[in-house]
Amino acid sequence: MPATRHDFIILGGGLAGGLAVLALTAKQPDLDIVLVEPAAIGGNHLWSFFDSDVAPRDAALVEPLIGHRWSGYDVRFPAHRRRLAQDYRTIESERLDEAVRAALPADRILAARAVDASQISVTLDSGETLLAGGVLDTRGLGVAPAGLVCGWQKFCGQTLTVPAGHGLERPIVMDAAVDQAEGYRFVYSLPFSPTEVFVEDTYYADTPELNPAELKRRIADYAEAQGWDVAGASRQESGVLPVVMGGDFDAFWPATDRLARGGVRAGLFHPLTSYSLPDAVRFAGWLAHEAPLNAGLGPAARLRAERHWQRGRFDRLLARMLLRAADPPQRYRILERFYRLPEPLIGRFYAGQSTLSDRLRILAGKPPVPVGRAVAAMLERI
Ligand SMILES: Cc1cc2nc3c(=O)[nH]c(=O)nc-3n(C[C@H](O)[C@H](O)[C@H](O)COP(=O)(O)OP(=O)(O)OC[C@H]3O[C@@H](n4cnc5c(N)ncnc54)[C@H](O)[C@@H]3O)c2cc1C
Repeated sequence: MPATRHDFIILGGGLAGGLAVLALTAKQPDLDIVLVEPAAIGGNHLWSFFDSDVAPRDAALVEPLIGHRWSGYDVRFPAHRRRLAQDYRTIESERLDEAVRAALPADRILAARAVDASQISVTLDSGETLLAGGVLDTRGLGVAPAGLVCGWQKFCGQTLTVPAGHGLERPIVMDAAVDQAEGYRFVYSLPFSPTEVFVEDTYYADTPELNPAELKRRIADYAEAQGWDVAGASRQESGVLPVVMGGDFDAFWPATDRLARGGVRAGLFHPLTSYSLPDAVRFAGWLAHEAPLNAGLGPAARLRAERHWQRGRFDRLLARMLLRAADPPQRYRILERFYRLPEPLIGRFYAGQSTLSDRLRILAGKPPVPVGRAVAAMLERI
């Protein structure tokens, strides 16, 4: 059977692949794009972000996807509470699925697994081969990404129904005034309606093992401590994400690998928070407006990813401070101190846009952890 040919093929319909479809179809409605995704588009995720994470020129891409929005958010630590003014947004993966299915003809979404790919061809698990002017690989990171030295951020969340009302008006993005014995732990709460709140129990840990049953029990304990009378739990998500302390970009993405990558597969995420939405949005805008949609995409995307890796050096240093300079019960002190800094600096940090003076400000003064270990973590070359 002769191979079919398309203008562009995207492997993986996660956040990055989905946004790439939306950005490309908005810019070039006649482009013949194929999306290869064996599971649900977007998977099962809530993607949250700060308003300042998305540049005004990219706002039109994410605006129709936003399901929940709030004015301001709170953080809580053992010795510090703060209300910040920054707006907060959440996208449900079902919205991305709907938007992508509305943007592409049904026969251009292939429920298949790519088993092999080059800059201009893709082989599916059915044995079928597709040819294309260009190919983008957004198939996610996998469990043990080569070239990265990581700790882990692991979490489990549930939407709780509280018929009498939970009383929250805005998200608590970090409630670290909870037991810290196992490392930096915080509970994250998103009030979806007066009677529905999404609650996630999160840990910054040295190992990736996750015990969802135990975390669900702790969510129930947290709800009880807030005085919430919970009638039931619905939507559930869990994750284990890399917190990148160091690594070797050339091992992560060898220069000989000329297949274009996007999303977390290209390392386009924040080294400390592991959040990828700000970078996935920027990448989709770049793809639609500036990138070559041909065999030259691989080297161009790799160059972009390499620059992102270089910009992440400071955030990897902070990740080492968090995971290596403090004993697990003391790790919260680093974030508690961070959240005393000016709000614009905090916004730039999450958006991956810290300036040199932000970095100096973050490091200035006596560290909230043992000085010798802080210096050792900063100087460590891994
Ligand atoms: C539960 C959870 C919540 C998160 N919350 C946030 C958040 O609030 N904000 C934020 O910014 N980040 C968040 N993140 C981190 C990050 O943004 C997400 O992991 C994001 O979904 C990564 O997007 P991606 O498209 O790069 O990769 P993925 O989401 O991993 O998508 C990869 C896709 O490729 C598909 N695929 C895999 N193999 C093949 C194959 N062989 N052929 C074809 N397709 C294949 C997979 O099925 C999947 O759909 C969260 C992560 C998790 C796990």
